[in-house]
Amino acid sequence: MRVLFIAAEAAPLVKVGGLGDVAGSLPLALKRLEVDIRLAVPWYTEIDVGRFKVCEENGAGVTTLGKSDVPVYLLAREVFLKTGSHKAIAGTKAEEAWFSGFCEAVVRFLKDSEWKPEILHGNDWHVAKALSFLEKTAPETLAEWGYLEKNLATLLTIHNLSYHPTRLREAILATDIINAVSPTYAREILTPEFCEDLCEELNARKEDVYGVLNGIDYAVWNPETDGYLSECYSTLTWKGGKARNKRELRSRLGLEESTGMLLGFVGRIDANQKGIGVLIQAVERLVALGCQLVVLGTGDPRYERKLNSVAVRYPGKVAMCLRFDEQLAHMIYAGADALVIPSRFEPCGLIQLIAMKYGTLPIAHDVGGLVDTIRDGETGFLFKAYSSVGLVSAVERAKAMYSTEPVGWEMMVTRAMRENFSWERSAGEYIKLYEKAREKSKE
Ligand code: ADP
Repeated sequence: MRVLFIAAEAAPLVKVGGLGDVAGSLPLALKRLEVDIRLAVPWYTEIDVGRFKVCEENGAGVTTLGKSDVPVYLLAREVFLKTGSHKAIAGTKAEEAWFSGFCEAVVRFLKDSEWKPEILHGNDWHVAKALSFLEKTAPETLAEWGYLEKNLATLLTIHNLSYHPTRLREAILATDIINAVSPTYAREILTPEFCEDLCEELNARKEDVYGVLNGIDYAVWNPETDGYLSECYSTLTWKGGKARNKRELRSRLGLEESTGMLLGFVGRIDANQKGIGVLIQAVERLVALGCQLVVLGTGDPRYERKLNSVAVRYPGKVAMCLRFDEQLAHMIYAGADALVIPSRFEPCGLIQLIAMKYGTLPIAHDVGGLVDTIRDGETGFLFKAYSSVGLVSAVERAKAMYSTEPVGWEMMVTRAMRENFSWERSAGEYIKLYEKAREKSKE
């Protein structure tokens, strides 16, 4: 099966969040299942053409994904030469024009390329125009381009409904089938609380909405081999390994030595999604519980300022790192005791999957993919109320276990590290969705 996977980012070429991780790893798992998969992503100026050995062919950049031989086409360079830093992808109006330009380039690629995919696998709102253009294209035109019998089916994967809902509406109406990145989020997006005003469109297509849980790439996220860590460790050696990484992390962040829990937060500073307001309100009580906190994130400048002004009140106890820092992210996953995830909604969430692999227990709001991946009291702690009270009460439960039931805590850590969220199973589910999309496109 031939699949063109189109996305706004793909690690390691370019990444601002979980979409980048997924686009950088799911295609590798599909390739292992013998799918002829290729990627198209925007040719941002920040992509390091030297490091990724990018060649130019017919105006497109061509490289491969990571160490694999999966081809990646970098498109619409002329658009992204003018846009500045991709780190600004934050929901602004200007982005709609950039990604229309990207979609036009995708359509040109579909027309001109000798390689003809059978499936166009689009991700999030950025690709909407490509999906809607194809939907409007007459079968005869597609046949002229080499797609016989309209043999080009489409799948839209929703990683996040909250950005540019108008564009997403267009994509939802145009695509053959749809999936969300966890079974729970697939159900939630049909309800008013989570549908971002797209309830009508999504419910009209309810039969075509599936949920497939994201995975992570354990070649990248593995404490046994992670080159960013002061000491690598396994399920057998984590106690010493995590202690050393924690010392290193504290010293780098200027946090005091302490027997209390070190809590981490890693994520985009998006107050609508990530529960930043809840976290800020909880800081005083978390510190009173004897916890320390490190926040790594970048995003909304108003909330970045609020976070900074909280941190200055607790020197040695709270550290704010308001930037994108791959190495520090790895050090936090390894050195923290627990990761706080107070998201209002979370389509899947990768940070809890990574944290568990590193023996760092997630303390999370029970919503979306967090429900599907964290077993309360076994591999992490879930809380119901989306509020600082909810978060603090879950941290209290974690702290009680951490300080008075060390054996129970250790069992949870080992259990969390042994969970398996590799892509293998979900990649098989995507193949089934591709088949469904092909049937649907012929209806
Ligand atoms: P989302 O897709 O909503 O951004 P996820 O939990 O799915 O959230 O994925 C977040 C990914 O981005 C993880 O790989 C996380 O480590 C990474 N990440 C987020 N913010 C930062 C940051 N400031 N520095 C380094 N990595 C970050």
